[in-house]
Amino acid sequence: MFDVEPYNDDVTLVKTSTAMEDGHPIMWAIAYLIKDTLFDAGCANALEDIERFAAKTEVNKIYVSHAHEDHYGGCSAFVPRSKIYAMEPDIQIIKNPPTIPEFFDFVWGQPKPVAEVEKMPSYFTIGDLEFEVVPLPGHGQQMVGFYEPNRKWLFSADAVPVPSRKIIGMPDENIPLMVETLEKILEMDIEIIFDAHRGPVTSPKEHVQVRVDFLNDIRVKVLKLHEEGKSIHEIQESLELSGPWYLEMTQGRFAIDIFLKSLLFDKAEK
Ligand SMILES: [Zn+2]
Repeated sequence: MFDVEPYNDDVTLVKTSTAMEDGHPIMWAIAYLIKDTLFDAGCANALEDIERFAAKTEVNKIYVSHAHEDHYGGCSAFVPRSKIYAMEPDIQIIKNPPTIPEFFDFVWGQPKPVAEVEKMPSYFTIGDLEFEVVPLPGHGQQMVGFYEPNRKWLFSADAVPVPSRKIIGMPDENIPLMVETLEKILEMDIEIIFDAHRGPVTSPKEHVQVRVDFLNDIRVKVLKLHEEGKSIHEIQESLELSGPWYLEMTQGRFAIDIFLKSLLFDKAEK
């Protein structure tokens, strides 16, 4: 699935997804187009649509927030014309994508390799817009967002998970570090958060605070049960945490026990 949705004079949403049987998207992955520049590039399951879009749209630069397949899977449609920028450890992944598990191949699609990927700068401009590259660690260790201080826009990638009560972790995730990043976002001067799955959020503080409160609240409960000697499994049962239908199919890439273990044992400092 593919959809292009102008948001304001500068920002256009480029939405990609895989359709469910009822025709609805499983989940949109949203790339943002500003003039000749993209933030992320969508998922590979929409590659044919992305290629048609790339053929008629001048995209010279793509800044990839992090090397998850729903963010860089569309890059191959834009090369060699577009320059692609990513953080150092992500460069190798984008050049040589690992084979993703079957479930994620169904949901997002297997990215194709891209020959050239440049190192992410710490600052860049698009016309009169000035962007700072902001580290947003926690979801992926190297994830970055793009902040425009004059417009007060933050392109936040996957820093603020949807929905707010998500209790699924991924092996790369560090939940305490994620909370620290969310608290850092709360202190920034932001009017609009451009989330990579939800789209633009015009009440960023409230939106982020709901997630921070949820994580801090559940952390207290998990710590207490842990101190009482309960196992991860028992903690999950006593808090009645259950995952979505597809959890098993992710083959451990999404799991509730990863989330609980990270809450208990990970430290925010690297
Ligand atoms: Zn991600």
